[in-house]
Amino acid sequence: MPSYDFACKSCRKAFEVRRRMSDESPVTCPKCASEDTIQLFVTVPTMFTRKIDHPDSPLDDLPGAEKMRKQADVAIHRALKDMGMNP
Ligand SMILES: [Zn+2]
Repeated sequence: MPSYDFACKSCRKAFEVRRRMSDESPVTCPKCASEDTIQLFVTVPTMFTRKIDHPDSPLDDLPGAEKMRKQADVAIHRALKDMGMNP
């Protein structure tokens, strides 16, 4: 099942949702339970949440991990800003 990045307009939390592509039901914010959410079309590297290749090594030790995480943060914040939100 593919996963999608969403952001909550109420509390501005960004989160990931796994669901079928055909599923168009409202996405509920895991933090405040608001259904006022929007999909973010940015790619956040999943290696930060799933340490499949390096299960024994701390996340921060992966080469380039810190840089990529910052890029992901920037991408999310930029997307939120484009939508008129100030994270
Ligand atoms: Zn929320």
